Amino acid sequence: MLGFIYHNDFLRHNTGEKHPEHPSRLKSVYNHLLESDLVKTDRVNAVKAEFNYDISRIARIHSPGYIENFKKESNTGNSYFQNKENVIDSTSFATAVKSCFSGLYASDLLLNGDFKQLFVASRPPGHHADYSRAYGFCFFNNVAITAKYLLDSKVFQKIMIIDIDVHHGNGTQNIFYDSKNVFYYSIHEHPTFLFPGTGRFFDTGKNSGKGFTLNSPMKPESGDDDYFKELLNKLYPAVCEFKPEIILVSAGYDGHKDDIMGDISLSTNGFRRIFYALKYLAAEYCEDRIMIFLEGGYEPEVLASCVLNTLDVMTDGYDINIFDALATADMFGLF
Ligand SMILES: [Zn+2]
Repeated sequence: MLGFIYHNDFLRHNTGEKHPEHPSRLKSVYNHLLESDLVKTDRVNAVKAEFNYDISRIARIHSPGYIENFKKESNTGNSYFQNKENVIDSTSFATAVKSCFSGLYASDLLLNGDFKQLFVASRPPGHHADYSRAYGFCFFNNVAITAKYLLDSKVFQKIMIIDIDVHHGNGTQNIFYDSKNVFYYSIHEHPTFLFPGTGRFFDTGKNSGKGFTLNSPMKPESGDDDYFKELLNKLYPAVCEFKPEIILVSAGYDGHKDDIMGDISLSTNGFRRIFYALKYLAAEYCEDRIMIFLEGGYEPEVLASCVLNTLDVMTDGYDINIFDALATADMFGLF
């Protein structure tokens, strides 16, 4: 059974209907999930997030001055923080805190043995947020704060973050650039003028983190087969060598061909393939431990469909090494 972490407070932080990262994204996911058989048949257990954590957990990744500034700007009613794209209201700070605390709550459920697979359906997203910088609708780096929490638990020493959002997770890469305990892999659109413009193939980490960052820049119009071949040739060997103890996924669905962002042409089925691959890697190396974090995805209906397909793949009981299957046979039509 997969734990699906949700909370209606994530529908606050009202950026306005014209802003791509607006609450109706998540509302659509929640509504579709409740109507689905995934919950009714107990394949997915919807768990309301709890937030009993200390702000010092966020300060493991972000500077105290940055946290204070964001709180002040939000509480005083400013309309944006640092950049105009980062629209805020009076609820934004509290919502961003809860969004990253939900990753800590998911971690505790995993550490307590309640679930091995978790999907954290929160907003605002996080993978662009850096040490002291909000960026690309992200304020606190949810996946990075969670990775640090898991390292602090001393249970895990090797964590793999796999970022499939159409945009490069510049914040996550920077935060762990000199770490050998957190391997960051990203597959994203590049080169174009697509935000944020980072994530080149020659960015591989520094100091003791050298070799623990890997990027797969993908040309515009890349589709399902292009993505799968890249995962086969780059991600698969990297995971085999690193042997992570847990996989965290920055799951952006804005590489979908029907999404308003980016120029990547993944289909819903292409996302299914990707998640079969991630599920296989988690089974092979991590005793099934995987935590999936919602990042981008800006067409509410498309997003909901992709998330439900993700949950379906993760819980369908179908167990296959999709890398071998697709590499050795002409099976591309089957998945
Ligand atoms: Zn994105």
